[in-house]
Amino acid sequence: MPEFRLYNSLTGEVEPFAPADGSTVRLYTCGPTVYNPAHLGNFRTFLFEDLLRRVLRMRGWGVEQVMNLTDVDDKIIKRATERGITIRALTDPVVTTFHADREYLRIQAAEHYPRATEYIAEMIALVERLQANGVAYRADDGSVYFAIDKFEGYGRLSRLDTRKIRTGARVAQDDYAKENAQDFALWKSAKPEDEACAAAWDSPWGRGRPGWHLECSAMAMALLGETLDIHAGGVDLMFPHHEDEIAQSEAATGKPFARFWCHGEFLLTDGAKMAKRVGNVSTVADLREQGVSAAALRHFVFSTHYRKQLNLSAAALEASIEAVRRIGDFSDRLARETAGSPALSEAADTLLVEATTVLSDDLNAPRAVGALFEFISAANRALDSRGSDPAALGRAREAFRQVNGVLDIVPDRGTSGGELADWVEAQLEARTQARARRDFAAADAIRKSLEEKGIAIEDSPSGTRWKSVR
Ligand SMILES: [Zn+2]
Repeated sequence: MPEFRLYNSLTGEVEPFAPADGSTVRLYTCGPTVYNPAHLGNFRTFLFEDLLRRVLRMRGWGVEQVMNLTDVDDKIIKRATERGITIRALTDPVVTTFHADREYLRIQAAEHYPRATEYIAEMIALVERLQANGVAYRADDGSVYFAIDKFEGYGRLSRLDTRKIRTGARVAQDDYAKENAQDFALWKSAKPEDEACAAAWDSPWGRGRPGWHLECSAMAMALLGETLDIHAGGVDLMFPHHEDEIAQSEAATGKPFARFWCHGEFLLTDGAKMAKRVGNVSTVADLREQGVSAAALRHFVFSTHYRKQLNLSAAALEASIEAVRRIGDFSDRLARETAGSPALSEAADTLLVEATTVLSDDLNAPRAVGALFEFISAANRALDSRGSDPAALGRAREAFRQVNGVLDIVPDRGTSGGELADWVEAQLEARTQARARRDFAAADAIRKSLEEKGIAIEDSPSGTRWKSVR
């Protein structure tokens, strides 16, 4: 296999990567702030991390991934206060929605989903460590701040101009712009509204709550150790969030916090004209409503490199729906055929080599998708000209299964199994009966619920055929 290489935001270069212990990659990924359902921009980042995870495993390494759930921060407190409920009551249902959305998009589960409110003791211990090291101080507002001029190298990740650093000035809010590079809050003294929504805890500095940046440093080090192999997140988190994570962690331990920093680019939705078949979409719920399958979204996202901006448009989603149909048709054909030829076997070998090579080169998914389509064309030609070798067909099925298993565009036939088929047949029977009694609204509703599950149906004189297009 070719060497595995990954772009490291710390150095600005694509570098060879392997886990420090040679076997398991300790991966930290900044998760959602659970005050409302994550939008598709967040999910583009989570899909990039899903791809990273799957490629690391394709390389034969284990992966221990942490994705935190930020369940206490400025935005959560503001919304809980508006509604007059506790932060837990606000965030619990959003966490449930997050996992349902994640499963819909077939994003593999991380090993850990720690909630910030369950790691308060670790956060307090980290602030104490920083105070003991002389890089944190208590201000007259009762909060504890990180003194950025005491940490050499502040701003290295985001290449912050040191002239912008305002010594002694302080910022208390969780998120702020580069123009406000100042001492940031590690621990904030409690206000009455924090107490009212149960967002305050006892600490050596009195009642208070953690700052957002502190949450990730404390949970990452508690679960994965003091030096991570990879820390990933959206590019929008590079400043101040990741910069502050580095400062807090390294000023406490004296060790590098993460060997590699990897950032996924933005999903642009501004000015996207959503019309006709695909209407406006900004959440996974919208996708479901519009009948856009996980397959189509995964194809759409992986057709652009993760370090390039991506435009969400109806035309692009519709093109992905068509592309997925082609992959689904081919998957059906591979399952139906009984033998192949040397040409088919050759196409399978080419696919495996090419996909492994491009995915190992900084996760070049668009080229892997391209290799998959080249394989589909070559394999269709080879199958058209007939063959007599079942082993060649076996090779083609295995190559397709492996490459599709990394991109996970159409579901593995091995997992969709008989249960799904039984359910679909029952739905089709109900739809046929609805049409017979001219209840077209009911028939349409059944078609829609099938589409949501990634099942496309086709009516013909001999009856209704269906196939899985996810
Ligand atoms: Zn984070």
